[in-house]
Amino acid sequence: MTIECLVLGAGQEVGKSCVVVSIGGKRIMFDCGMHMGYLDERRYPDFSLISESGDFDNALTCIIITHFHLDHVGALPYFTEVCGYRGPVYMTYPTKALAPLMLEDYRKVMVDRRGEQEQFTYDHIMECMRKVIAVDLKQTVQVDNELQIRAYYAGHVLGAAMFYAKVGDSAIVYTGDYNMTPDRHLGAAQIDRLQIDLLITESTYATTIRDSKYAREREFLKAVHKCVAGGGKVLIPTFALGRAQELCILLDDYWERMNLDIPIYFSAGLTIQANMYYKMLIGWTSQKVKDTYATRNAFDFKHVRSFERSLINAPGPCVLFATPGMISGGFSLEVFKEWAPSEINLVTLPGYCVAGTIGHKLMSGKPTKIDLDKDTQIDVRCQIHQLSFSPHTDAKGIMDLVKFLSPKHVILVHGEKPKMASLKGRIQAELGIECFYPANNDTVQIPSTQYVKVDATCKFVQNCLIPNLKSIQNCVEGKLDVGSSNTESFPMVQTGHKVSEGILVMEKMKKAQIVHQSELLPMLGVEEHQVQFAYCCPVHVRNVDNSKSHEHGSESSEPVGFSTSLQPCAMSSSSIKIADPSLENILLSSEQFLWLHLLFVELSNKFPGEKILEFPDNLQLQSFHVHVCPDANCPYKVKEVIEDKPAVHFCCRWSTLDEKLGWRIISVMQGLDLTYSRPHTPYSKKRKSETSSF
Ligand SMILES: [Zn+2]
Ligand SMILES: [Zn+2]
Ligand SMILES: [Zn+2]
Repeated sequence: MTIECLVLGAGQEVGKSCVVVSIGGKRIMFDCGMHMGYLDERRYPDFSLISESGDFDNALTCIIITHFHLDHVGALPYFTEVCGYRGPVYMTYPTKALAPLMLEDYRKVMVDRRGEQEQFTYDHIMECMRKVIAVDLKQTVQVDNELQIRAYYAGHVLGAAMFYAKVGDSAIVYTGDYNMTPDRHLGAAQIDRLQIDLLITESTYATTIRDSKYAREREFLKAVHKCVAGGGKVLIPTFALGRAQELCILLDDYWERMNLDIPIYFSAGLTIQANMYYKMLIGWTSQKVKDTYATRNAFDFKHVRSFERSLINAPGPCVLFATPGMISGGFSLEVFKEWAPSEINLVTLPGYCVAGTIGHKLMSGKPTKIDLDKDTQIDVRCQIHQLSFSPHTDAKGIMDLVKFLSPKHVILVHGEKPKMASLKGRIQAELGIECFYPANNDTVQIPSTQYVKVDATCKFVQNCLIPNLKSIQNCVEGKLDVGSSNTESFPMVQTGHKVSEGILVMEKMKKAQIVHQSELLPMLGVEEHQVQFAYCCPVHVRNVDNSKSHEHGSESSEPVGFSTSLQPCAMSSSSIKIADPSLENILLSSEQFLWLHLLFVELSNKFPGEKILEFPDNLQLQSFHVHVCPDANCPYKVKEVIEDKPAVHFCCRWSTLDEKLGWRIISVMQGLDLTYSRPHTPYSKKRKSETSSF
């Protein structure tokens, strides 16, 4: 099974995040963002690549939105209300609460204030949000019988989540935007050590390593303080949510400490409303915010008030938070036009601005003039401060996450091409994990591995828990004199590692399980087998045949009563012609008995210390059993004896415990020469056999 990853947005760019993953027959759209830098059709992902006919309900299993930023949720109302997708949409509770504020703020900026053609209406946003299923962190959601999803805390902005998705044996994680270090109001990303085939991670700061965040925050506060102390105005263009709250906590706290009474404004009631949500969703914020909550809610800003349009040209210093971020239009642009020409004013920009925005232009070198359109040109003489702290993880954080999850493959999105190329190199070289950074509208095929979950029996688990005791004798050996070495006097120490061995049992239609070795045979209902050595050993014989020329004439010209090397190893009884076949058997066994008895005598001489038991049809020495081989095609005959000497084959078997003894006996037997004189009548043999048996 392969995992197919179609990148509709955020491929080698930041903006309109949208990745469609096909996994185990399911198709998930991760994020449905818009690009702030474009006004044409490039603003939205090219949804026709999902379904040419526009049948999105059949083409997609679900949509997952990671957080409320517009580059992740901005195209959602358009996709559900204009394109007509009616399937499930998942996001966390805070994202569901805050995304409509973000969307409505943006819609107003673009339509009401800039007079653009409306892409979606307020009603569209509300209709769209009604389709959303809110999820909690770490809550496993069964989208259908096969698809399972789970959200993990991502830091970044309030409610941001990484998502885990699993179908059968295939699993992936899509990070969205995340932060691996806590900030003023949010904690660091947290995820379980999941077994995944693919990690799709953002890579905004693919090559940046950041040092102490607090030093960089001080830099920002110093720049703001210096500006207002000199009578200047500070413009902080932000989106309604996220960075605005983080910087507000920072400034409010600083104002308190420095005892400043210069006004801090929010550009619209919207951010005040957002602050209310932040107060409600305190459980999703950082531990520090939660800890101080009892005495003071960090989002109850003391020094912050609402801004009136008339205040734009009011005299005196102030700090203003204005939407949208990156000065992509709207009110922040309106204020920028007024304040930019004065060198005592300050504009702070986030660490990252999307290409195509004024923020991006200001960051790429310091221009003195910006052409807004063919009629409007802005003089830029104000100070520009770029925030060097960011709600995105740096390169170290990305590497740490990749290392922690150790996925089979990594796909980088939400970054800049050259930096992604460099990070890909690091991931492959340092972690040995295959990495891709596809461009927009490219597809990457990822082979997925099949995992088998197995049960373990109690006995196996118990056995695993037995501490691994090892005598420390090994460690001190050599330092002691031999006379005093006594194993029992050494304490047993527990060593750090233990390898537990079990048997993996896989049966059709049953769940595989690991059992302890003692459990296997009863489980299968079979007896234990014992490994034995078996060897059909030829022993040379010399025959003095007294019977041959007497009562029972033989037609055979060969020596009778034993085989030659060219004949079957079984004893021949052809010389004895008796009418009753049962008697023939008795005669046969009596002849075998004689060979066996001769062997007994020889072995007793060669192994004087061993107790050899003699039975009518076999001899036993410990586990070594030997009898005259009755089978011409005995499978234990190793090879034909080449010498042209008569031989009798003795079948021997012995257990592995007596391995060496067995081979010693065999080598003795191979050197033997058994001799016997054949008596006159077979009946006397029988009698002899009977007497010696009893
Ligand atoms: Zn974001
Ligand atoms: Zn983003
Ligand atoms: Zn044999």
